[in-house]
Amino acid sequence: MLDGPRSGLALLAPAMLRLAGLAVFATIVGIAFGMQAGLWTAVIGLAALLLIHLRYAALLAAWLEQPRLEDVPDGWGIWTDVFARLYRTRRSTEQNEHRLLENEERFRRTISALPEGIVLIDATLQIDWCNPVAEQHLGISLRADQGLRVTNLVRDPEFVGYMTSARFDQALIFQPMSRPGLALEVRVIEFEVARLILITRDITQRERVDAVRRDFIANVSHELRTPLTVVNGFLETLIDAQQENGGTRQHHLHLMHEQAQRMHRLVEDLLTLSRLESRETPVSDEVVDIQQLIREVADEARALSLGRHQIHVDLTPAFVRGSREELRSAFGNIVSNAVRYTPEGGSISLAWREDATGGRFEVTDTGLGVAPDHIPRLTERFYRVDKSRSRETGGTGLGLAIVKHVLLRHGGHLDVRSEVGRGSTFSAVLPTERVVTHSDEITAAA
Ligand code: ADP
Repeated sequence: MLDGPRSGLALLAPAMLRLAGLAVFATIVGIAFGMQAGLWTAVIGLAALLLIHLRYAALLAAWLEQPRLEDVPDGWGIWTDVFARLYRTRRSTEQNEHRLLENEERFRRTISALPEGIVLIDATLQIDWCNPVAEQHLGISLRADQGLRVTNLVRDPEFVGYMTSARFDQALIFQPMSRPGLALEVRVIEFEVARLILITRDITQRERVDAVRRDFIANVSHELRTPLTVVNGFLETLIDAQQENGGTRQHHLHLMHEQAQRMHRLVEDLLTLSRLESRETPVSDEVVDIQQLIREVADEARALSLGRHQIHVDLTPAFVRGSREELRSAFGNIVSNAVRYTPEGGSISLAWREDATGGRFEVTDTGLGVAPDHIPRLTERFYRVDKSRSRETGGTGLGLAIVKHVLLRHGGHLDVRSEVGRGSTFSAVLPTERVVTHSDEITAAA
């Protein structure tokens, strides 16, 4: 549209030529028609030039009011160059503005996509900007709260104390009153002069895992402390052996043996659980003979019961795919619980059932039963309804946690139906994919 820029004399040359042309023309008119006519010609010519320049100056002033690239006027003479320069300057300004806006937008999008909350604040703790995650974490709103002090919006004393202390070398962990159940880690980074970035991270899950680990360690320590105290106490007595007759010593040794066995069982169960949890490989696919497995756990149950219960076994040939070792441990735990929580004279039945939804190992007892509110928690580690009965009968509090893990690894689950004082049915349920049907066997044999 417009010519390229020219500079110095080159820019002024056409204007000078135009003036020189006017002077020559006025002189010729003066010579031809007299002095006065020549002067009038010069004056009119100069006035015409002035008017043209004034018009372009007015156009320039109007454009400067609203300097839009598409509205840059076309020029004449020296104005062509002036407007060409304006056009180029305006175009590069607009390009820079556009690039800046784009960068800012990209920066905001990036920060908004972070899993952390980000709040930009100034030295007086006023909010400049924040991303949606920070809005969620702190219960603030960029639109409504921009320019307000963050400590007036998040009023938790530990947060206010942390922000006003201006000592940000350590992170703050707190639970905002506005978001019950949420645990937040807050960090503040100082940048530029008196500008702060506040970063919030949701650590609810981490805190929960830490709490479970702390509870777990406390429980294990507690479980081991009692038998160790007993063993230690008797050992101290035995050191002073003269004071004991043979019978008492025998009794003490027997008690120590019992406690040592209890610790042994506990450590074994802990190891089984940790092995189950740390196994990343899928459960093995060996074909397990269920009939034989049930026969073995029934024998164990008889040995544990010592004839105090009637034990019925309903055996039908059945096979499942899975880990024999893990299933044996799960079935064994369910059966030993039935013996331990069924008073003398009660009966216990073991059966394998199959239907369209899969297969289930059902153990029904006429024992103590479990109240409904305890049932959902039975598979938690160390959860016991009746602590003393569990300990007296040698329970570690980990049996059903092991059962749950084994069944989960096999795609199944534990089903508990129970009535206090009447008895319970604990079923290890396995999905159809695990059950080997007759046609599977034929295929396998082929
Ligand atoms: P424990 O070693 O204490 O038996 P478990 O994890 O095997 O640990 O079982 C957890 C709790 O579930 C037991 O303490 C007991 O209160 C309850 N429980 C398990 N099986 C039965 C059952 N057949 N009858 C009644 N209560 C049971």
